[in-house]
Amino acid sequence: MALGTFWPADIVGVGFFFLVGEGVISMKVAAYHSSNQSDPDVYHDHSDCPTGQQIPSYNKLSGTGGYPRCKQCVDKG
Ligand SMILES: [Zn+2]
Repeated sequence: MALGTFWPADIVGVGFFFLVGEGVISMKVAAYHSSNQSDPDVYHDHSDCPTGQQIPSYNKLSGTGGYPRCKQCVDKG
């Protein structure tokens, strides 16, 4: 891995943000949904979904819950 030492740190940083912008770091995860009645009746399958991230761990249930897929998760792929 000697080649890695030739990379200036700032170029590595730019590459990291580029990857985030492209959504490459977006993690696809097993389906989960909220048990909270006031939350949207959808399930999520991305760890970085803004709506899914608002579900507290004590409300997070695995599986689809019989709900349609979250629009933001659909957009993420
Ligand atoms: Zn979602």
